[in-house]
Amino acid sequence: MTDAARVARLTEDLTSALKTGDLEDFYRDLHRHPELSFQEHRTAARLAARLRAAGFEVTEGVAGTGVVGVLANGDGPVVWLRGDMDALPVTEATGLPYASTADGVMHACGHDLHVTWLTGAAEALAAGRETWSGTLVVIGQPAEESGGGAAAMVADGLQERFPRPDAVFGQHVAPGPAGFYPHTPGLIMSAADEIEVVMHGLGGHGSRPEATVDPVVTAAYIVTRLQTVVSREVAASDAAVLTVGQLHAGTKNNIIPAEARLGLNLRTQETRVRERVLTAVRRIVEGECRAAGCPVPPEVTLTQGYPNTVNDADLDREIAAVHRELFGEHTVFDFGPAMGSEDFGLLAPQGVPYDFWFVTSTPADVWAAARGEELAEQLGDVPANHSPLFAPDLAVLVPGVRTLASAALSRLTA
Ligand code: ZN
Ligand code: ZN
Repeated sequence: MTDAARVARLTEDLTSALKTGDLEDFYRDLHRHPELSFQEHRTAARLAARLRAAGFEVTEGVAGTGVVGVLANGDGPVVWLRGDMDALPVTEATGLPYASTADGVMHACGHDLHVTWLTGAAEALAAGRETWSGTLVVIGQPAEESGGGAAAMVADGLQERFPRPDAVFGQHVAPGPAGFYPHTPGLIMSAADEIEVVMHGLGGHGSRPEATVDPVVTAAYIVTRLQTVVSREVAASDAAVLTVGQLHAGTKNNIIPAEARLGLNLRTQETRVRERVLTAVRRIVEGECRAAGCPVPPEVTLTQGYPNTVNDADLDREIAAVHRELFGEHTVFDFGPAMGSEDFGLLAPQGVPYDFWFVTSTPADVWAAARGEELAEQLGDVPANHSPLFAPDLAVLVPGVRTLASAALSRLTA
């Protein structure tokens, strides 16, 4: 038997005793009670209680609401499993019997599923601890959506206070017919930057523009000119998205405001491209403000960012092979890097390999009704992460536990 086959059989053994109904109840409860970034108190308490009951030594309050459970089980490697816990400011429209009861908050990204998978994997591995040796560390991470959760855990000593990992694993629920496990041996998620721009004009009466410097007009030029960055300054072979998501100025029709603000979102997959776009953004903002005669230079501030998520290629191939053994050859494929972003990669100490993959969750009937011939078209027609209609198939509960548990076992039984 190959190593992958051995790990897959052991995973099936350890997870065969999982109580599906219990996991479903746990998931539905989390789904009913979503909590925003850094406010995951109830979710964290639920996770911590289950880990304690399973025999983990649990530390709560890491970076506010973070949870870390440690199960020391003899000599051997240290494996970290991570699940993020926060929900989004979205009003749920699924009509599910277990829909959110929190006003304007919803688990629209499926992090409730991530916590359930993490819990199921932790319990299965704890129950079967005589089959493996080493240390299992289970991490409930706050605030992936707002960014900052992983960095806050690291700042709160995650990498020093707990056993140093030999490998770190995480997974994300994704649209696509339930039962696929996309793996990418390298870059899997893009870097994201938030850029805030403040332009200073000279305010005055709407009837006397000659006595003002109108930042609204300058903002309009900047928004338009920023469209040339990706189209004219980034090579066709490089990936980049630059979106102006916010534009604010003014309070009244007959007042020329003194200030205008823009909020930009940038996605890139290479440092070289990221630097080039950031330089272009600064140049364009400063240039347009100079051209307009702004009395004070503009402020361009880089705020919360996400790094690239780059899987260790060997580790990813190893885990992909285990997942193929578990679910079938055709269920694992490489879809290439996504423009979405994650802060998962920040958790691993420098030089420690990590692997992150997707678990598709669109119910079969929803997928069958999706319009389009091509996969990309169909994906665009089913509710995806962040949609008020996002509703993963509960059939992915046990498979998601198995993907995570098997990744841990691939190291802990090596
Ligand atoms: Zn999300
Ligand atoms: Zn997410």
